[in-house]
Amino acid sequence: MFGESFSLFRVLGFEIRANVSWLFLALLITWSLAEGLFPYAYPELAPLTYWLMGLAGMLGLFFSLLFHELSHSVVARSYGLRVRGITLFLFGGMAEMVGEPKEPRVEFWMAIAGPIASLFLAVAFYLLGAGMHAAGVPEHLAGVVYYLGFINFLLAVFNMVPGFPLDGGRVLRAALWHLKGDLRWATRWASRMGQGFGLLLVALGVVSFVAGNFIGGMWWFLIGLFVHAAAGMGYRQLLMQQALAGRSVRRFMTANPVTVPAETSIRDFVEDYVYHHAFDLFPVERDGRLVGHAGLREARQVARGDWDHTRIGEVCREAGEGATVSADEDANEALERMQGQRASRLIVTDGDRIVGILALKDLLHFLQVRSELEKG
Ligand SMILES: [Zn+2]
Repeated sequence: MFGESFSLFRVLGFEIRANVSWLFLALLITWSLAEGLFPYAYPELAPLTYWLMGLAGMLGLFFSLLFHELSHSVVARSYGLRVRGITLFLFGGMAEMVGEPKEPRVEFWMAIAGPIASLFLAVAFYLLGAGMHAAGVPEHLAGVVYYLGFINFLLAVFNMVPGFPLDGGRVLRAALWHLKGDLRWATRWASRMGQGFGLLLVALGVVSFVAGNFIGGMWWFLIGLFVHAAAGMGYRQLLMQQALAGRSVRRFMTANPVTVPAETSIRDFVEDYVYHHAFDLFPVERDGRLVGHAGLREARQVARGDWDHTRIGEVCREAGEGATVSADEDANEALERMQGQRASRLIVTDGDRIVGILALKDLLHFLQVRSELEKG
């Protein structure tokens, strides 16, 4: 959603990634601590000291966000849910869960784990600060630790606001779901609360911007917009999942799709396939068996002068796990995969035989028709 993410390391088997937007947050935090908070709280130190304190504060925040998301992830995994990894981005951290919890109890524990972890860190940092203070460590060093204690406390409180997709919103959803046994209704209300909270933050942001707090105001404004959008998206995602639930890929695929024989020259591939059909991926076959897949990108990798004597089979991409799906797979999982890897088509295979094509367009068409029917 915010562009490129890069992999950092693995903890407890989870892949930790940072989005490029996290760099911006890291710089903003370091700068505002080094130039704002710390000089204000502990005057008359050297500028370098403030920057080192700012850096320590930023790294401490990084650790705190990671700890929070790891606690969600560990609990999710213990209930058998798959977690793709943890990504840190502009507004904090995000554990990327595959699928949704199947019962309210699971959702409750998964959601509450994060704020509990942050509260635990808040107390731990506070005690550490007090210990440093008692041991006679310079006041400004204990100050960095106190700051981290405070930040973790704020993280716990902010995340407990009862609006989806915040942790508190998930707790609310779990409670409503438990009460009425209707996940859809529970999600609708938790999402509405989230949207309302998002708008409230936007309004607060505008007010504080007008009052002269430009950076803080901007910040709340952006977070508000994000929460508002994510709340609406969370609800729509659920509707989609429910609509596709229990349906297999076979139901949506196109049988006998257009395939390209591996011996086709690049020129013929471009003339007869790429120009002809508005697909960005074609299965490449030899004797009805899948060899790989290719599109405009693969053709462009070959110099024009070589188009006549290069075969598509030589340059096509190997059809690894990512590009293929089995006809009996759950349509929800296929859709999630397509969204995850930004693919618009998956090749439906049975072993190495091509049996069809699953197009994102067809899934979305089904969902749209279904929602139109439900409105009327
Ligand atoms: Zn959380």
